[in-house]
Amino acid sequence: MTAGRDFRDVVASKRDGQELSDEDVRDFVLAYARGEVGDELAAAFLMAAYINGLSPAETAALTEAMVGSGSTLPLAGVSRPKVDKHSTGGVGDGVTLVLAPLAASLGLAVTKLSGRGLGHTGGTLDKLESIPGLRTDLSTEELERQVEEIGCAVAAQTKELVPADGKLYALREATATVSSVPLIAASVMSKKLAVGSDLILLDVKWGSGAFMKTPRAARDLADACLGLASAAGRPLRVAVSDMSQPLGRAVGNALEVAEAIAVLKGEATGRLWELTGVFAAEALVILQGLGPEEARKEVDRAVESGEALGAMASMIRSQGGDPAVVERPRDVLPRAPVVREVPAPNEGWLAATDAEALGRAGVGLGAGRIRKGDPVDPAVGFEFVPNIGDRLESGQPLAVIHARDDDAAERARREIEAAVHITDDPVEPPALVSEWLGRAE
Ligand code: URA
Repeated sequence: MTAGRDFRDVVASKRDGQELSDEDVRDFVLAYARGEVGDELAAAFLMAAYINGLSPAETAALTEAMVGSGSTLPLAGVSRPKVDKHSTGGVGDGVTLVLAPLAASLGLAVTKLSGRGLGHTGGTLDKLESIPGLRTDLSTEELERQVEEIGCAVAAQTKELVPADGKLYALREATATVSSVPLIAASVMSKKLAVGSDLILLDVKWGSGAFMKTPRAARDLADACLGLASAAGRPLRVAVSDMSQPLGRAVGNALEVAEAIAVLKGEATGRLWELTGVFAAEALVILQGLGPEEARKEVDRAVESGEALGAMASMIRSQGGDPAVVERPRDVLPRAPVVREVPAPNEGWLAATDAEALGRAGVGLGAGRIRKGDPVDPAVGFEFVPNIGDRLESGQPLAVIHARDDDAAERARREIEAAVHITDDPVEPPALVSEWLGRAE
Protein backbone atom coordinates (compact mmCIF):
# COMPACT_ATOMS: atom_id res chain seq x y z
CA MET A 1 0.00 0.00 0.00
CA THR A 2 1.56 3.30 -1.03
CA ALA A 3 -1.41 5.72 -0.97
CA GLY A 4 -0.50 8.70 1.18
CA ARG A 5 3.14 7.57 1.53
CA ASP A 6 5.74 10.32 1.78
CA PHE A 7 8.30 9.30 -0.87
CA ARG A 8 10.88 11.91 0.10
CA ASP A 9 12.78 9.21 2.01
CA VAL A 10 13.27 7.23 -1.23
CA VAL A 11 14.67 10.29 -2.98
CA ALA A 12 16.86 11.12 0.04
CA SER A 13 18.34 7.60 0.02
CA LYS A 14 19.20 7.90 -3.67
CA ARG A 15 20.55 11.42 -3.11
CA ASP A 16 22.87 9.99 -0.42
CA GLY A 17 24.15 7.26 -2.74
CA GLN A 18 22.34 4.33 -1.16
CA GLU A 19 20.96 1.40 -3.13
CA LEU A 20 17.15 1.33 -3.15
CA SER A 21 15.15 -1.85 -2.64
CA ASP A 22 13.10 -3.26 -5.54
CA GLU A 23 9.93 -2.33 -3.65
CA ASP A 24 10.95 1.28 -3.14
CA VAL A 25 11.79 1.72 -6.83
CA ARG A 26 8.56 0.02 -7.91
CA ASP A 27 6.32 1.89 -5.48
CA PHE A 28 7.87 5.25 -6.36
CA VAL A 29 7.53 4.76 -10.13
CA LEU A 30 3.98 3.43 -9.96
CA ALA A 31 2.93 6.25 -7.62
CA TYR A 32 4.41 8.76 -10.08
CA ALA A 33 2.59 7.11 -13.00
CA ARG A 34 -0.70 7.35 -11.05
CA GLY A 35 -0.08 11.03 -10.29
CA GLU A 36 0.43 10.47 -6.54
CA VAL A 37 4.04 11.68 -6.74
CA GLY A 38 4.48 15.13 -8.30
CA ASP A 39 6.92 16.23 -11.00
CA GLU A 40 9.13 18.07 -8.49
CA LEU A 41 9.89 14.95 -6.44
CA ALA A 42 10.26 12.79 -9.55
CA ALA A 43 12.67 15.38 -11.01
CA ALA A 44 14.74 15.21 -7.80
CA PHE A 45 14.75 11.40 -8.06
CA LEU A 46 15.92 11.55 -11.67
CA MET A 47 18.73 13.96 -10.85
CA ALA A 48 19.84 11.79 -7.91
CA ALA A 49 19.80 8.73 -10.18
CA TYR A 50 21.64 10.66 -12.91
CA ILE A 51 24.41 11.76 -10.55
CA ASN A 52 24.75 8.65 -8.34
CA GLY A 53 23.76 6.05 -10.94
CA LEU A 54 21.52 3.03 -10.49
CA SER A 55 22.75 -0.47 -9.72
CA PRO A 56 21.78 -3.32 -12.10
CA ALA A 57 19.13 -4.39 -9.57
CA GLU A 58 17.69 -0.86 -9.33
CA THR A 59 17.71 -0.54 -13.13
CA ALA A 60 15.87 -3.87 -13.43
CA ALA A 61 13.30 -2.78 -10.82
CA LEU A 62 12.78 0.53 -12.64
CA THR A 63 12.30 -1.27 -15.98
CA GLU A 64 9.89 -3.79 -14.49
CA ALA A 65 7.87 -1.03 -12.81
CA MET A 66 7.66 0.93 -16.07
CA VAL A 67 6.40 -2.14 -17.96
CA GLY A 68 3.92 -2.79 -15.12
CA SER A 69 2.62 0.78 -15.26
CA GLY A 70 0.46 -0.02 -18.29
CA SER A 71 -0.77 -2.72 -20.63
CA THR A 72 1.38 -4.89 -22.90
CA LEU A 73 1.10 -5.84 -26.56
CA PRO A 74 1.81 -9.58 -26.85
CA LEU A 75 0.96 -9.69 -30.62
CA ALA A 76 -0.28 -13.26 -30.21
CA GLY A 77 -2.27 -12.93 -33.46
CA VAL A 78 0.88 -12.43 -35.56
CA SER A 79 2.11 -15.71 -37.03
CA ARG A 80 5.34 -14.61 -38.73
CA PRO A 81 8.61 -14.44 -36.72
CA LYS A 82 8.51 -11.09 -34.95
CA VAL A 83 11.47 -8.72 -34.88
CA ASP A 84 11.52 -5.43 -33.02
CA LYS A 85 14.16 -2.75 -33.42
CA HIS A 86 15.14 0.36 -31.51
CA SER A 87 17.79 3.00 -31.88
CA THR A 88 19.04 5.07 -28.97
CA GLY A 89 18.64 8.10 -31.22
CA GLY A 90 20.58 9.99 -33.82
CA VAL A 91 20.55 12.38 -36.75
CA GLY A 92 19.41 11.27 -40.20
CA ASP A 93 18.54 7.89 -38.69
CA GLY A 94 15.88 6.54 -41.03
CA VAL A 95 16.64 2.85 -40.40
CA THR A 96 13.09 2.06 -39.25
CA LEU A 97 11.58 3.49 -42.46
CA VAL A 98 13.69 1.10 -44.52
CA LEU A 99 13.93 -1.89 -42.19
CA ALA A 100 10.21 -2.36 -41.48
CA PRO A 101 9.17 -2.95 -45.12
CA LEU A 102 12.43 -4.72 -45.97
CA ALA A 103 11.98 -7.23 -43.12
CA ALA A 104 8.30 -7.66 -44.05
CA SER A 105 9.29 -8.54 -47.63
CA LEU A 106 11.64 -11.18 -46.17
CA GLY A 107 8.81 -12.96 -44.33
CA LEU A 108 9.32 -11.33 -40.94
CA ALA A 109 6.92 -9.19 -38.92
CA VAL A 110 7.85 -5.73 -37.62
CA THR A 111 5.48 -3.88 -35.28
CA LYS A 112 7.33 -0.70 -34.60
CA LEU A 113 6.00 1.70 -32.02
CA SER A 114 7.85 4.92 -32.60
CA GLY A 115 8.14 8.38 -31.16
CA ARG A 116 8.26 11.97 -32.33
CA GLY A 117 11.38 14.05 -32.71
CA LEU A 118 12.51 15.91 -29.65
CA GLY A 119 15.78 17.73 -29.12
CA HIS A 120 18.32 17.32 -31.92
CA THR A 121 17.16 13.83 -33.00
CA GLY A 122 14.38 13.17 -35.50
CA GLY A 123 11.24 11.12 -34.89
CA THR A 124 9.96 8.35 -37.15
CA LEU A 125 6.31 9.40 -36.72
CA ASP A 126 7.04 12.94 -37.92
CA LYS A 127 8.86 11.52 -40.92
CA LEU A 128 6.05 9.15 -41.91
CA GLU A 129 3.37 11.78 -41.41
CA SER A 130 4.98 13.87 -44.15
CA ILE A 131 3.27 11.39 -46.51
CA PRO A 132 -0.14 12.93 -47.26
CA GLY A 133 -2.99 11.13 -45.48
CA LEU A 134 -0.83 8.71 -43.50
CA ARG A 135 -2.09 7.85 -40.00
CA THR A 136 0.12 6.69 -37.17
CA ASP A 137 -2.59 6.45 -34.47
CA LEU A 138 -3.45 2.80 -35.08
CA SER A 139 -5.48 0.84 -32.54
CA THR A 140 -4.07 -2.40 -31.17
CA GLU A 141 -6.48 -4.36 -33.40
CA GLU A 142 -5.49 -2.36 -36.51
CA LEU A 143 -1.82 -2.89 -35.72
CA GLU A 144 -2.14 -6.65 -35.31
CA ARG A 145 -4.27 -7.03 -38.44
CA GLN A 146 -1.93 -4.94 -40.58
CA VAL A 147 1.18 -6.76 -39.37
CA GLU A 148 -0.42 -10.16 -39.97
CA GLU A 149 -1.50 -9.16 -43.51
CA ILE A 150 1.45 -7.04 -44.67
CA GLY A 151 4.24 -7.85 -42.24
CA CYS A 152 4.87 -4.35 -40.92
CA ALA A 153 3.34 -1.33 -39.23
CA VAL A 154 4.94 1.79 -37.83
CA ALA A 155 2.69 3.58 -35.39
CA ALA A 156 2.56 5.76 -32.31
CA GLN A 157 2.99 4.21 -28.93
CA THR A 158 -0.42 4.15 -27.24
CA LYS A 159 -0.95 5.94 -23.92
CA GLU A 160 -1.63 2.59 -22.27
CA LEU A 161 1.76 1.12 -23.17
CA VAL A 162 4.52 1.91 -20.65
CA PRO A 163 2.90 5.21 -19.53
CA ALA A 164 5.53 5.68 -16.81
CA ASP A 165 8.21 5.97 -19.50
CA GLY A 166 6.16 8.54 -21.39
CA LYS A 167 5.92 10.71 -18.26
CA LEU A 168 9.47 10.15 -17.08
CA TYR A 169 10.97 10.71 -20.53
CA ALA A 170 9.23 14.08 -20.86
CA LEU A 171 10.46 15.02 -17.38
CA ARG A 172 14.01 13.93 -18.25
CA GLU A 173 13.92 16.14 -21.34
CA ALA A 174 12.84 19.06 -19.16
CA THR A 175 15.44 18.46 -16.44
CA ALA A 176 18.65 17.64 -18.37
CA THR A 177 18.65 14.02 -17.19
CA VAL A 178 18.37 12.17 -20.51
CA SER A 179 21.96 11.03 -21.09
CA SER A 180 22.23 8.53 -18.23
CA VAL A 181 23.07 4.89 -18.96
CA PRO A 182 20.60 3.28 -16.49
CA LEU A 183 17.81 5.74 -17.31
CA ILE A 184 18.16 5.23 -21.07
CA ALA A 185 18.48 1.44 -20.65
CA ALA A 186 15.29 1.26 -18.56
CA SER A 187 13.43 3.58 -20.95
CA VAL A 188 14.41 1.69 -24.10
CA MET A 189 14.06 -1.82 -22.70
CA SER A 190 10.72 -1.20 -20.94
CA LYS A 191 9.23 -0.34 -24.35
CA LYS A 192 10.79 -3.41 -25.97
CA LEU A 193 9.80 -5.82 -23.19
CA ALA A 194 6.17 -4.62 -23.29
CA VAL A 195 5.78 -5.74 -26.92
CA GLY A 196 5.87 -9.39 -27.99
CA SER A 197 8.83 -10.25 -30.25
CA ASP A 198 11.09 -13.18 -31.04
CA LEU A 199 14.11 -10.94 -31.44
CA ILE A 200 14.99 -7.43 -30.34
CA LEU A 201 17.61 -5.58 -32.36
CA LEU A 202 19.08 -2.60 -30.61
CA ASP A 203 21.19 0.08 -32.27
CA VAL A 204 23.25 1.78 -29.56
CA LYS A 205 24.79 4.86 -31.06
CA TRP A 206 27.87 6.73 -29.99
CA GLY A 207 29.48 9.93 -31.24
CA SER A 208 28.81 13.63 -31.53
CA GLY A 209 25.17 13.15 -32.56
CA ALA A 210 24.32 10.48 -29.95
CA PHE A 211 23.47 10.64 -26.25
CA MET A 212 26.54 8.47 -25.62
CA LYS A 213 29.59 10.44 -26.73
CA THR A 214 32.23 7.66 -26.44
CA PRO A 215 32.40 3.96 -27.43
CA ARG A 216 32.95 3.13 -23.74
CA ALA A 217 29.69 4.82 -22.73
CA ALA A 218 27.86 3.10 -25.60
CA ARG A 219 29.29 -0.25 -24.50
CA ASP A 220 28.07 0.40 -20.94
CA LEU A 221 24.59 1.19 -22.28
CA ALA A 222 24.63 -1.94 -24.45
CA ASP A 223 25.67 -4.05 -21.43
CA ALA A 224 22.91 -2.53 -19.28
CA CYS A 225 20.31 -3.35 -21.96
CA LEU A 226 21.67 -6.88 -22.34
CA GLY A 227 21.41 -7.39 -18.57
CA LEU A 228 17.75 -6.32 -18.64
CA ALA A 229 16.92 -8.55 -21.63
CA SER A 230 18.62 -11.52 -20.04
CA ALA A 231 16.79 -11.01 -16.72
CA ALA A 232 13.51 -10.96 -18.68
CA GLY A 233 14.52 -14.03 -20.74
CA ARG A 234 14.26 -12.12 -24.03
CA PRO A 235 16.66 -12.44 -27.00
CA LEU A 236 18.57 -9.24 -27.74
CA ARG A 237 21.30 -8.43 -30.25
CA VAL A 238 23.00 -5.08 -29.96
CA ALA A 239 25.01 -3.21 -32.57
CA VAL A 240 27.22 -0.41 -31.32
CA SER A 241 27.21 2.00 -34.24
CA ASP A 242 28.70 5.31 -35.33
CA MET A 243 26.80 8.59 -34.90
CA SER A 244 29.71 10.97 -35.40
CA GLN A 245 27.98 12.15 -38.59
CA PRO A 246 24.39 11.92 -39.90
CA LEU A 247 23.60 8.29 -40.77
CA GLY A 248 21.70 9.01 -43.96
CA ARG A 249 22.24 11.94 -46.26
CA ALA A 250 18.85 13.48 -45.48
CA VAL A 251 17.98 15.35 -42.27
CA GLY A 252 14.31 16.39 -42.21
CA ASN A 253 11.00 14.60 -42.47
CA ALA A 254 9.93 14.41 -46.15
CA LEU A 255 13.60 14.37 -47.19
CA GLU A 256 14.21 11.29 -45.04
CA VAL A 257 11.14 9.53 -46.47
CA ALA A 258 12.43 10.26 -49.98
CA GLU A 259 15.83 8.85 -49.02
CA ALA A 260 14.25 5.70 -47.53
CA ILE A 261 12.37 5.17 -50.81
CA ALA A 262 15.59 5.64 -52.77
CA VAL A 263 17.27 3.04 -50.54
CA LEU A 264 14.43 0.56 -51.10
CA LYS A 265 14.77 1.14 -54.86
CA GLY A 266 18.48 0.33 -54.66
CA GLU A 267 19.34 3.89 -55.71
CA ALA A 268 20.97 5.03 -52.45
CA THR A 269 23.76 2.78 -51.28
CA GLY A 270 25.37 4.84 -48.52
CA ARG A 271 25.60 4.29 -44.77
CA LEU A 272 21.82 4.18 -44.20
CA TRP A 273 21.51 1.23 -46.56
CA GLU A 274 24.64 -0.38 -45.19
CA LEU A 275 23.36 -0.34 -41.60
CA THR A 276 19.80 -1.36 -42.47
CA GLY A 277 21.07 -4.22 -44.63
CA VAL A 278 23.22 -5.46 -41.77
CA PHE A 279 20.26 -5.43 -39.37
CA ALA A 280 17.96 -7.21 -41.83
CA ALA A 281 20.58 -9.92 -42.50
CA GLU A 282 21.16 -10.39 -38.76
CA ALA A 283 17.43 -10.92 -38.26
CA LEU A 284 17.34 -13.55 -41.02
CA VAL A 285 20.32 -15.40 -39.56
CA ILE A 286 18.74 -15.52 -36.10
CA LEU A 287 15.07 -16.02 -36.94
CA GLN A 288 15.23 -18.07 -40.13
CA GLY A 289 18.49 -19.93 -39.51
CA LEU A 290 20.20 -18.73 -42.71
CA GLY A 291 23.98 -18.50 -42.99
CA PRO A 292 25.36 -14.93 -43.05
CA GLU A 293 26.10 -14.97 -46.80
CA GLU A 294 22.76 -16.47 -47.73
CA ALA A 295 21.00 -13.93 -45.51
CA ARG A 296 22.83 -11.07 -47.18
CA LYS A 297 21.86 -12.39 -50.63
CA GLU A 298 18.21 -12.56 -49.57
CA VAL A 299 18.32 -8.96 -48.35
CA ASP A 300 19.84 -7.73 -51.61
CA ARG A 301 17.33 -9.80 -53.60
CA ALA A 302 14.37 -8.26 -51.72
CA VAL A 303 15.50 -4.82 -52.86
CA GLU A 304 16.48 -5.79 -56.42
CA SER A 305 13.16 -7.57 -56.99
CA GLY A 306 11.13 -4.55 -55.82
CA GLU A 307 9.49 -6.62 -53.07
CA ALA A 308 10.80 -4.39 -50.27
CA LEU A 309 9.50 -1.28 -52.04
CA GLY A 310 6.16 -3.06 -52.60
CA ALA A 311 5.94 -3.75 -48.86
CA MET A 312 6.50 -0.07 -48.18
CA ALA A 313 3.69 0.88 -50.60
CA SER A 314 1.38 -1.65 -48.89
CA MET A 315 2.20 -0.28 -45.44
CA ILE A 316 1.59 3.30 -46.57
CA ARG A 317 -1.72 2.36 -48.27
CA SER A 318 -2.90 0.41 -45.22
CA GLN A 319 -2.17 3.41 -42.95
CA GLY A 320 -4.16 5.77 -45.20
CA GLY A 321 -1.20 7.37 -47.01
CA ASP A 322 -0.79 7.88 -50.74
CA PRO A 323 1.17 4.84 -52.02
CA ALA A 324 2.10 6.72 -55.21
CA VAL A 325 4.81 8.30 -53.06
CA VAL A 326 7.05 5.29 -53.67
CA GLU A 327 6.93 5.87 -57.45
CA ARG A 328 6.83 9.66 -57.50
CA PRO A 329 8.22 10.95 -54.19
CA ARG A 330 8.98 14.42 -55.56
CA ASP A 331 5.36 14.92 -56.68
CA VAL A 332 3.68 13.51 -53.60
CA LEU A 333 5.86 14.75 -50.73
CA PRO A 334 5.75 18.39 -49.61
CA ARG A 335 8.62 20.50 -50.93
CA ALA A 336 10.24 23.58 -49.43
CA PRO A 337 10.20 26.81 -51.48
CA VAL A 338 13.89 27.69 -50.95
CA VAL A 339 16.59 25.21 -51.98
CA ARG A 340 20.16 26.36 -51.52
CA GLU A 341 23.55 24.66 -51.88
CA VAL A 342 26.21 25.11 -49.19
CA PRO A 343 29.66 24.94 -50.81
CA ALA A 344 32.65 23.56 -48.88
CA PRO A 345 34.47 26.62 -47.45
CA ASN A 346 37.91 25.18 -48.26
CA GLU A 347 39.56 22.07 -49.68
CA GLY A 348 40.78 19.13 -47.60
CA TRP A 349 39.42 16.03 -45.93
CA LEU A 350 36.24 15.94 -43.89
CA ALA A 351 37.67 14.96 -40.49
CA ALA A 352 34.70 15.36 -38.15
CA THR A 353 31.22 16.75 -37.86
CA ASP A 354 29.31 17.99 -34.84
CA ALA A 355 26.31 15.82 -35.64
CA GLU A 356 24.32 17.21 -32.72
CA ALA A 357 24.78 20.73 -34.11
CA LEU A 358 23.73 19.44 -37.54
CA GLY A 359 20.60 17.98 -35.93
CA ARG A 360 19.94 21.34 -34.29
CA ALA A 361 20.35 23.06 -37.67
CA GLY A 362 17.51 20.82 -38.91
CA VAL A 363 15.39 21.77 -35.88
CA GLY A 364 16.16 25.46 -36.56
CA LEU A 365 14.80 25.07 -40.08
CA GLY A 366 11.58 23.70 -38.55
CA ALA A 367 12.10 19.97 -39.12
CA GLY A 368 12.10 19.16 -35.39
CA ARG A 369 10.72 20.55 -32.19
CA ILE A 370 12.20 22.24 -29.16
CA ARG A 371 9.18 21.68 -26.90
CA LYS A 372 6.84 18.70 -26.85
CA GLY A 373 3.78 19.52 -28.96
CA ASP A 374 5.52 22.11 -31.20
CA PRO A 375 4.45 21.72 -34.86
CA VAL A 376 7.04 20.46 -37.37
CA ASP A 377 7.42 21.53 -40.99
CA PRO A 378 7.47 18.32 -43.07
CA ALA A 379 9.17 19.90 -46.10
CA VAL A 380 12.29 21.46 -44.62
CA GLY A 381 15.72 20.09 -43.71
CA PHE A 382 18.94 19.50 -45.56
CA GLU A 383 20.97 16.87 -47.34
CA PHE A 384 24.46 16.50 -45.95
CA VAL A 385 26.59 15.34 -48.86
CA PRO A 386 30.06 14.05 -47.77
CA ASN A 387 31.07 11.32 -45.34
CA ILE A 388 33.90 11.60 -42.84
CA GLY A 389 37.10 10.68 -44.68
CA ASP A 390 35.95 12.14 -48.03
CA ARG A 391 38.18 14.55 -49.95
CA LEU A 392 36.48 17.92 -50.55
CA GLU A 393 37.43 20.53 -53.12
CA SER A 394 36.70 24.16 -52.32
CA GLY A 395 33.19 25.05 -53.57
CA GLN A 396 32.09 21.41 -53.83
CA PRO A 397 28.62 20.92 -52.23
CA LEU A 398 28.74 20.26 -48.51
CA ALA A 399 24.97 20.36 -48.09
CA VAL A 400 21.73 21.25 -49.85
CA ILE A 401 19.34 23.20 -47.64
CA HIS A 402 15.54 23.04 -48.05
CA ALA A 403 14.06 26.02 -46.19
CA ARG A 404 10.83 27.97 -45.75
CA ASP A 405 12.57 31.29 -46.49
CA ASP A 406 15.95 32.88 -47.21
CA ASP A 407 16.63 33.90 -43.59
CA ALA A 408 16.12 30.34 -42.34
CA ALA A 409 18.38 29.04 -45.14
CA GLU A 410 21.11 31.53 -44.22
CA ARG A 411 20.97 30.61 -40.51
CA ALA A 412 21.21 26.91 -41.40
CA ARG A 413 24.13 27.58 -43.77
CA ARG A 414 26.12 29.20 -40.96
CA GLU A 415 25.28 26.37 -38.55
CA ILE A 416 26.22 23.65 -41.05
CA GLU A 417 29.50 25.34 -41.95
CA ALA A 418 30.37 25.68 -38.24
CA ALA A 419 29.60 21.99 -37.65
CA VAL A 420 32.24 20.59 -40.01
CA HIS A 421 35.94 20.20 -39.50
CA ILE A 422 38.06 19.98 -42.66
CA THR A 423 41.76 19.08 -42.35
CA ASP A 424 44.78 19.05 -44.66
CA ASP A 425 45.56 15.41 -43.95
CA PRO A 426 43.61 12.32 -45.01
CA VAL A 427 41.34 10.82 -42.34
CA GLU A 428 40.16 7.23 -41.82
CA PRO A 429 36.35 6.95 -41.91
CA PRO A 430 34.93 5.55 -38.67
CA ALA A 431 33.63 1.97 -38.61
CA LEU A 432 29.86 1.97 -39.07
CA VAL A 433 29.33 -0.90 -36.60
CA SER A 434 32.13 -1.19 -34.07
CA GLU A 435 30.79 -4.31 -32.36
CA TRP A 436 27.89 -6.73 -32.07
CA LEU A 437 26.95 -7.91 -28.61
CA GLY A 438 24.49 -10.33 -27.12
CA ARG A 439 23.12 -13.68 -28.03
CA ALA A 440 19.99 -14.58 -29.85
CA GLU A 441 18.94 -17.47 -27.60
N1 URA B 1 15.41 6.55 -26.53
C1 URA B 1 14.51 6.15 -25.60
O1 URA B 1 13.53 5.48 -25.91
N2 URA B 1 14.72 6.48 -24.32
C2 URA B 1 15.78 7.19 -23.92
O2 URA B 1 15.90 7.44 -22.74
C3 URA B 1 16.70 7.63 -24.90
C4 URA B 1 16.50 7.29 -26.20
